[in-house]
Amino acid sequence: MSDCIFCRIARGEIPAKKVYEDEDILAFNDINPARPVHVLVIPKRHITSLATVTEADTPVLGKILTKANEIAVAQGSPDGFRVIANTGRIGQQEVQHLHIHIVGGPDPVGPMLKRI
Ligand code: AMP
Ligand code: ZN
Repeated sequence: MSDCIFCRIARGEIPAKKVYEDEDILAFNDINPARPVHVLVIPKRHITSLATVTEADTPVLGKILTKANEIAVAQGSPDGFRVIANTGRIGQQEVQHLHIHIVGGPDPVGPMLKRI
């Protein structure tokens, strides 16, 4: 997906504050943070959303969730966090490249976020 913004971040064509990277996934700070810790985690390979995943995506999805706590702790959310995956039209997904939001910080995140 040559013009997908998160594919372009994964390729290094658009700058992002990367906080974790390996061969399969990339985590970077959200450009418009809703909480003191607000990180997006993406598969480097383009997947549109949780509404389009297949069995072939199971390993990378597992890796994204397995790394979430390590990323949250390293970024300053030492005692838990919230994961959100806006999906499709009903989920009001804005960027059509699968990502999870990790939101947290030193204090509880409060009620369900209105829009992140
Ligand atoms: P959504 O697809 O609804 O989960 O929202 C997309 C999220 O991506 C929003 O929280 C944006 O602030 C964030 N975002 C959009 N462009 C960038 C970018 N270039 N770098 C970092 N975060 C971004
Ligand atoms: Zn993409």
